[in-house]
Amino acid sequence: MLEFFNKFNFIQSENLSKHCTMRVGGNAQYYIEPINSEQLVEIVKNCVKYKIDYFILGNGSNVIFKDNGFSGVVICTKRLQDIKVKKNIIIADSGTNLYVLNKIAQENGLGGSEWSYGIPGSLGGAVCMNAGAYGGQMRDIVLKIKVFDGKKIKILYNNELQMSYRDSIVKKKKYIVLKVWIKLKKDDKQKIKEKQIEYLNKRRLSQPLEMYNSGSIFKKVKDISAGKIIDNLGLKGVILNGAQISKLHANFIVNLSSAKAKDIENLIKIIKEKVKEKTNINLEEEVLFIGDE
Ligand SMILES: Cc1cc2nc3c(=O)[nH]c(=O)nc-3n(C[C@H](O)[C@H](O)[C@H](O)COP(=O)(O)OP(=O)(O)OC[C@H]3O[C@@H](n4cnc5c(N)ncnc54)[C@H](O)[C@@H]3O)c2cc1C
Repeated sequence: MLEFFNKFNFIQSENLSKHCTMRVGGNAQYYIEPINSEQLVEIVKNCVKYKIDYFILGNGSNVIFKDNGFSGVVICTKRLQDIKVKKNIIIADSGTNLYVLNKIAQENGLGGSEWSYGIPGSLGGAVCMNAGAYGGQMRDIVLKIKVFDGKKIKILYNNELQMSYRDSIVKKKKYIVLKVWIKLKKDDKQKIKEKQIEYLNKRRLSQPLEMYNSGSIFKKVKDISAGKIIDNLGLKGVILNGAQISKLHANFIVNLSSAKAKDIENLIKIIKEKVKEKTNINLEEEVLFIGDE
């Protein structure tokens, strides 16, 4: 095991609050940013071999790290950024940010991913969560993916990905996405740019983008937005220590700067209890809490 830890540049006791958009969380025992997919696979193989817990992190925009940190290895994909275009298909490493994907798509006159412009996630995270917005979702544009299942590398096609609302086979089976093939359609570059800006402006008007947050906290309930349900109860602006239900969007919790993960967890509990009491609806979290109890 020592050989494994000596071989790679692990950082010990890495502060995880730097690695999630909510800016909360304790330390990871070990943290690493592999420089390519081969290294990522080798690290995971060793974690499996030595029975070390690991967590695959993209851009940390849908995870909230707990205050007690993570006993194990956090493996972040942010350096896996290779991206190529072949006709109307973009082939990109899992760490590629959705901004970059959209920029390349626009420059190459490829439309279909504009709805995702402004989602601050990586492609791997977006496939895992089947990210979606404004009527679009990853399921519509993913042709196939290359994954590592802990033992071997395989290719999975769209119809094998079981992508549904904020869910996928990647999430269910904890597969690791290495590469993604995105299939788009030829379109006018100017038109694509305008659509991207339109979606980004919509976000700017309705979401507290200049504050630390993790996007939507709860999933929709059937087709009703959780934000509407929470807003109807007059909960916008409620503060618990450093955590606040956003004044702009009731399904967002913002970290006013000093929040702990526990404050966010407790605020979520309060919202769920109030919603249950007043409407009999059970809200379910979209964000994922990661770390030791
Ligand atoms: C301001 C804001 C706005 C947002 N708007 C939207 C929105 O409109 N629609 C939407 O759907 N989401 C939205 N989100 C949530 C989030 O951005 C998406 O879910 C995004 O796709 C997560 O990507 P990530 O790289 O940050 O994933 P992370 O948060 O790092 O991880 C999320 C999950 O994906 C897994 N994962 C990450 N990379 C891989 C990989 N390579 N292989 C396997 N699993 C992996 C992680 O293990 C974890 O389970 C928003 C978030 C913020 C902060």
